Order: sequence, then structure tokens, then C-alpha cells
Amino acid sequence: MRIGLFGGTFNPVHAAHLRAAEEVRERCSLDRVEFVVSAVPPHKNASGVAPAEHRRHMLELALEDNPAFVVNTSEIERAGRSYSIDTILAAQARTSAAHFTFVLGADAFAEIESWKRFDEIFARCDVAVLSRPGVTIERPPIAVEKAFCYDSDRRVYVHASGNALAFVPITPLMISASDIRQRCADGRSIRYLVPRAVEEYIAAHGLYVGRAAAS
Ligand code: ATP
Repeated sequence: MRIGLFGGTFNPVHAAHLRAAEEVRERCSLDRVEFVVSAVPPHKNASGVAPAEHRRHMLELALEDNPAFVVNTSEIERAGRSYSIDTILAAQARTSAAHFTFVLGADAFAEIESWKRFDEIFARCDVAVLSRPGVTIERPPIAVEKAFCYDSDRRVYVHASGNALAFVPITPLMISASDIRQRCADGRSIRYLVPRAVEEYIAAHGLYVGRAAAS
């Protein structure tokens, strides 16, 4: 069983998240992609973040027609701040026979050196970095680059642990959650940027209408 762990704030989940997950599922031959909804994102300004229960619910609506996509709530169930390394260790303890790939976008990867015990992530599982418009990064983090060598046959960096770091080009989609929140705050349409059920949920619960919501 090959499982991808795709972490994010998902504030809200949008079409580019879904397409990105589908492309990495195909490219990395994943059986399942778990969307890990973050509780209090340590590296984001928490002021404009909708409560975790809303973000989880929107994910459930967005993923319900795809049996390969599931919501992972371990970070919102765990008390305190959520760190990816803890999430990975918990998932590996839960499903010890599975092979795990940690999935993140290039913008998130560009900041990975500020994450708690980020070097352990490479020692624990494969990592897939998804291309994102406007972000050019295709190398291991400088602080740990000596731990990697490049395998030109597989076109991946191989960590001293044997795990792979792959840069996965995906269809460029200029969609971001912050842009969607701004559109909501401005009273503009978000149709087709998010699944219909998510659009309806946002409207029904009056999410992202205030000024702080767009931040
Ligand atoms: P915000 O605009 O609020 O920063 P976001 O759209 O980046 O949000 P997140 O929930 O922070 O959404 O993203 C979760 C993961 O999905 C991150 O690893 C991010 O890099 C990736 N991601 C989000 N949007 C895209 C996109 N358009 N293309 C590729 N990866 C993306």
C-alpha cells in the first residue's frame, strides 16, 4: 500500500489542490492520498484561518466522490500545534506496512528549513514536491544537501536513508486559497475554483466575508 500525505491549511480546499493530488497519485503510483488538514498552521498568520471543523467539512465534501482521496484529521485531533514530522510518525505508527510519500507544493518546500525537525522528514519517507506557478525550486534544502545525491536514471534525489526526493511537474494552475478568500470578501464569484459543494458550504456558513478573512 502506497500512501501520500498531502498537508495543508485547506482554507478552503480548491481545484488546484485536487488536480495536484490526482497528478501526484498517478505519477507516484499512490493507492491513496490523505489530505492532512492542519489545526493551527505554525508558519501562517492564523487570523484569517477558518475553524478546523469548517475546513475539515469542506475537504470531506470535496473528496467524497473519489475513493482514493481521504481526509486525515490527526493534526486537528492532536492537542497543540501541528508539525509535519509528528504527523508522518503518527501515520507510520498507524499503518506500519505502508510506504509513505510526503507531498507538498514548491512554495511550501521553499520554506521547509524553518519547519521543526524538517531533516527527519527526508529520513522517514519519500518526499514529492509539486511545481507551482511562480516558484522555481528543484534542489534539496541547502542545510541538508550533503545528505543527497542525484540519481539521473530515476530523476530523483536520493537521501542517505535511501528515501527519494522528487520534483514533480504538474499542470500549472494559478489558483490559491488566499485569492479565493479575497473573492469571497469582495462578494465575487468563486464558481469552478472550488467544487460546487464547497462553494455552497462557504455561502451557507458565511465564511470569508469579513476583511480579516482575506488575509
Ligand atoms: P494560501 O493561498 O492561503 O497560502 P494555498 O492555496 O497555498 O493557501 P494550502 O492549503 O496552503 O493552500 O496548500 C496546501 C498544499 O497545496 C501546499 O503544499 C501548497 O504548496 C499546495 N498548493 C496549493 N495550491 C497549489 C497550486 N495552485 N499548485 C500547486 N500546489 C499548490
